[in-house]
Amino acid sequence: MSYKMHYDENSKLIISDIECDCPCEHNKPEQDIYVGNGILDNIAEYVKLRGVGTHCVLVADNITWDLAGSRAAELLKAGGITVYPCVIRRDGPMDPDETAIGEVMLSLQPDTEFLVSVGSGSITDTTRMVATRLGIPQVCVGTAPSMDGYTSAICPLTFRGVKIHRAGKCPEVIICDIDILKTAPIEMVRSGVGDVLGKYIAKADWIIGNIINDEPYCPTCGEIVMDAVGKLIDNIDEIAARTDKGIRILIEALLLSGMTIMIVGHTRAVASVEHNIAHYWEMMQMLHGKKAPMHGASVGVSTLMVWPIFTRFMSEDLSKLDLEQIKANRISREDRVKWMLYAYEPEAANAIMSENEGDFLTWEEQERRIRRAQERFDDIKAVIADMPSYETIYNAMKRLGAQMVPADCGVDEALTNLSMHCAKDYRTRYTLFKLIDECGLLDKYLADYPLDWKA
Ligand SMILES: [Zn+2]
Ligand SMILES: [Zn+2]
Repeated sequence: MSYKMHYDENSKLIISDIECDCPCEHNKPEQDIYVGNGILDNIAEYVKLRGVGTHCVLVADNITWDLAGSRAAELLKAGGITVYPCVIRRDGPMDPDETAIGEVMLSLQPDTEFLVSVGSGSITDTTRMVATRLGIPQVCVGTAPSMDGYTSAICPLTFRGVKIHRAGKCPEVIICDIDILKTAPIEMVRSGVGDVLGKYIAKADWIIGNIINDEPYCPTCGEIVMDAVGKLIDNIDEIAARTDKGIRILIEALLLSGMTIMIVGHTRAVASVEHNIAHYWEMMQMLHGKKAPMHGASVGVSTLMVWPIFTRFMSEDLSKLDLEQIKANRISREDRVKWMLYAYEPEAANAIMSENEGDFLTWEEQERRIRRAQERFDDIKAVIADMPSYETIYNAMKRLGAQMVPADCGVDEALTNLSMHCAKDYRTRYTLFKLIDECGLLDKYLADYPLDWKA
């Protein structure tokens, strides 16, 4: 398997020559993704190259408007494009919620052909939702290397104070001007790094899913992400100093991770149990009227939390498992429902359960998985042995001054403990946590995260 990554004369990032014999279907990413210094100057040209139209609404918040939005608007106008600005003004951080989406909707003109978003996660997702519903193209100007959502097709939003996810589409044009990105606050850079470090867990879980359930694994996508993450680890000091080189490496890692979603059509290479924990924290903090932590910061911290579980599993002796005992200790369907309602609270719990119907296993299926793990334990160990050391990740985050523990993200002990136990239940996607649970070992592995709950 192999691939090529290069930039064309317009600073367009191109992944080509994907050669892979895995069973996944490999699509060529169709987005125009530009990375470079000073490239915002070319925005009108990029818009014309893509042929998305001549009338747009440009969405920004008060901060990103001053940072790059007003300039983008001027440049577009100079290029003969009509621009209606929609500047979402807030006192504090802006939420991608129904009010923000309403503001974009009401800024639309009868002749609006495309939307331009100037911002990071919240602005991009707000605009993505509207562009998706209208079926019109989006041009995204990234302002911070804080998360991998620029190339995503999911909109994480807030609706009536509750965190929700809606299917969206990827922007047609993505412009990442290094000169703008490197002015982002250091917390946003840390967040971006955290989001990238989680990819090691995502990759390991994906291959474990392949080993246990024959889920197709794409080694080329794995390699695309790992090449980018490896570079990031090797250049942490450049990133911390926000040099051109460091910021380019970080944004490339975020964009390339996202591009694998377009190549194989799912997010397996970019998100697993560490993202489940991060989403859970965001969801629960908001539900309880608290500030949600920054996405990537949570992912970085949860990556550090789950890493030792992976390492420890390598010294497990699966031949000693007592299958009769595991069968006898199985949670009943009624108790699992109770558990889900307790951990996720009714609204989210019911949504998760109806989306992941197969998650309550028959004993036959559970037994098959245990036996597969016993047979293929050497392969599972090899996957984990392939991960860098815990210290490598820990030191990278430390050098960056990143959040290291849940408390740094405003997450208390009770929520931390719960999140470690319910991360496996967030979706059907296979994880080492699911395997440990199916082998009846989860309580042993999570002894440091005690729970109040009893079935
Ligand atoms: Zn993420
Ligand atoms: Zn493949």
